[in-house]
Amino acid sequence: MEENCVFCKIIKGEIPSDKVYEDEEIIAFKDINPVTPIHILVVPKKHIATLLDVKKEDSYLISKIYQVINKIAKDLGIEENGFRVIANCGKDSGQEVMHIHFHLLAGKKLGTKIVG
Ligand code: AMP
Ligand code: ZN
Repeated sequence: MEENCVFCKIIKGEIPSDKVYEDEEIIAFKDINPVTPIHILVVPKKHIATLLDVKKEDSYLISKIYQVINKIAKDLGIEENGFRVIANCGKDSGQEVMHIHFHLLAGKKLGTKIVG
């Protein structure tokens, strides 16, 4: 846990969030500023600042994140229409929160361009 990390605060319950999933290792909640009708952030509870800080021992966690995305997609009934997953890293990507997270975007036909 990192003192000044907004996602660590959400994980500790110090900041409210609209949770859609939680277990011992992973939390998922609605993005406060959604860019699509469904915009969920899937976040490991372990504080890992950026994708560049992912270590071999985190392999299980990263794989589990995709299993959780799979479950949420089915729970929300978006598996048929589909969705997009995005993870930003560093300044050119516009990463704002330095705690890795995976944006699950769905609920409308997304543009074919994945960069803007
Ligand atoms: P990124 O630009 O990939 O770092 O994305 C950070 C995301 O976190 C943005 O889409 C923000 O809208 C979202 N965000 C920031 N603070 C909160 C919060 N307290 N609750 C939910 N989402 C948040
Ligand atoms: Zn954190």
